[in-house]
Amino acid sequence: MGCPNMCSFCDQRAISGEVKPPTPEEIAEQCRESLIGGIDGKNSEIAFFGGSFTAIPEEQMTACLEAVQPYLGSGGFSGVRISTRPDAVPDRILAILKKYGVTAIELGAQSMSDRVLLLNRRGHTSQDVREASKCIKSHGFSLGLQMMYGLFGSTAEDEEHTLSECIKLRPDTMRIYPTVVLEGTHLGELYKSGSYILPSWDDMLTFTADAICRLKAEGINLIRLGLHAEKGIEERILSGFYHPALRELAEERLYLAAMKRWAESHVDILTEQRSKVTYILAEVSTGDAGLAAGHGRANRKAFAEFTLGARLRISERNDFSEGMMKLSLCMEDKSGTLKQLGEEVYNVFKITGTSGL
Ligand code: SF4
Repeated sequence: MGCPNMCSFCDQRAISGEVKPPTPEEIAEQCRESLIGGIDGKNSEIAFFGGSFTAIPEEQMTACLEAVQPYLGSGGFSGVRISTRPDAVPDRILAILKKYGVTAIELGAQSMSDRVLLLNRRGHTSQDVREASKCIKSHGFSLGLQMMYGLFGSTAEDEEHTLSECIKLRPDTMRIYPTVVLEGTHLGELYKSGSYILPSWDDMLTFTADAICRLKAEGINLIRLGLHAEKGIEERILSGFYHPALRELAEERLYLAAMKRWAESHVDILTEQRSKVTYILAEVSTGDAGLAAGHGRANRKAFAEFTLGARLRISERNDFSEGMMKLSLCMEDKSGTLKQLGEEVYNVFKITGTSGL
């Protein structure tokens, strides 16, 4: 909605005219329909996303917030979350948001390197992110930070620095968006001219898999990894990290890293007794068999290479917590009885260094 900025990755100018912001009446109608449609309001929030909510004209912002008031509280939604820029949350605006029941504010930090912010025309500094984060927390809002990976000019050290600096600000939630290059953007031009070369998928997945583990260890909820599948976006993509299940790809990598670790520590028994191995059993938490198997069975295929072709059997256990995986080798003894050897239990979210998998 009339954003004056021109961030390198954003195609708001190219698509303005195609996408119409909803009117307050439409917003109210959508809230009403969602509640009638059976959405669990107590566990859902109303979200104003996809731009800089506090940078739109103030009357428009308050009209949107007014429109949702009848749908908050008892019998309605639990709160309102918004996303905005780090340089658009002065105290006066925060007071308005508080008055209208906003509970969570997410800031598009994107990078904590001032050089990268400048190269990508963000129009704010890393210090703006620090100050805005402190202000948001001191007003009692839940703080969310969004970072991008692979922006123009960003090095591996910059990515590392951005994640660490975000963690230091103690957000309640984070979103990580590996860069997607869209038609009609400055990044698109740089990409076409060959001046912008994206990191590899392997580097991106190594970084994001590691970030999942770090954020979990820090108690920060990673609520999104990868760009949302938005109507019409696929036709506008020139390059970059777009995948409808990016988070799963990163998490699968952690399972594979644990499998590799297990295979390496059981290389002797695998080579000496390979012919007697019936299968290798991977037991995981309920719902995680797909992550262990990998996208398109990729983990199964890679695991077969680590284990001289041994068959992998995956089973789910409801007494396992998320990310837990037990690996063991099943083989027949002389009497034909199946016995389990080499049992090892892993927490895949404590695995680091997945490069080259
Ligand atoms: S990313 Fe946000 S601040 Fe930047 S140009 Fe797009 S809408 Fe404006």
